[in-house]
Amino acid sequence: MDEFKVSGADLIVACGGGSVMDAAKLASVLVTDEYGVKELLDDPGRARKCVPIVLIPTTAGTGAEVTPNAIVAVPEKELKVGIVNENMIADYVILDARMIKNLPRKIAAATGVDALAHCIECFTSNKANPFSDLYALEGLDLILNNIMDACNDTEAMEAKNRMQIAAYYGGLAITASGTTAVHALSYPLGGKYHIAHGVSNAILLAPVMRFNEPVCREKFAQVYDRCVHTEKTCKTVEEKSAYILRWMENIVKDLDIPTFLKSFGVPEEDLEGLVEAGMQIQRLLVNNMRPVTADDARALYKEIM
Ligand SMILES: [Zn+2]
Repeated sequence: MDEFKVSGADLIVACGGGSVMDAAKLASVLVTDEYGVKELLDDPGRARKCVPIVLIPTTAGTGAEVTPNAIVAVPEKELKVGIVNENMIADYVILDARMIKNLPRKIAAATGVDALAHCIECFTSNKANPFSDLYALEGLDLILNNIMDACNDTEAMEAKNRMQIAAYYGGLAITASGTTAVHALSYPLGGKYHIAHGVSNAILLAPVMRFNEPVCREKFAQVYDRCVHTEKTCKTVEEKSAYILRWMENIVKDLDIPTFLKSFGVPEEDLEGLVEAGMQIQRLLVNNMRPVTADDARALYKEIM
């Protein structure tokens, strides 16, 4: 920040993934002596824009280019905390598929599934509304039908372009709705074990959506009606819902994203700590259509151990 102040620059241009864009958003409100990051963690309302920002995402996933959030690691609490203030919204965003052309498959996969999680969570969130549904459903359509090509084929520019737009829509859906138990339970995995955000969400996506299925069935059926463009063979709500669950699960598997925490050296004796940390993310858990108790969280974490 000191360097920026002496540089005399009047614009911040950030080109990178979610963390880079979040850092730029934070920087745009920190060119002041009135407060620092610690003060913003206590009172995010204090943030005010000091310098305009241009965000250019180099992954198709986080949607950080459109949200007013900046995720900050708090090492002493082993947690990542979101600072939310609309003063951090980007002034300009450039979406260009060429920025993700040579993204390693592993990163394209994890960030792409993060965008998928944003859309399906926002669509099934207690905070879902007609405005967020518009973007969540369009995002789902784009992601479900393009993520495999976008990750597997470096030349699939059209699929990559659609993923860039979908990730942006996912971010828009977050601002109007909110993510749910996938993101809530994934927070401690990033904070304590440094598992990449997209990967921890991918690990939790299928188990949490299966847990949610009894109350989200109608919603999943709507996703089926909107996103399946081949012959629609499923007729009942139950069939359609099961199809969408399988589709999401297969995407995670086929993109070779690990689905168990043991791949990351998380010991089983940490289960209770995870439950405790996960249950603290009530900000997102309250958005989950099926209420999540500590016992539910324990069962979900156990499933992915
Ligand atoms: Zn996310």
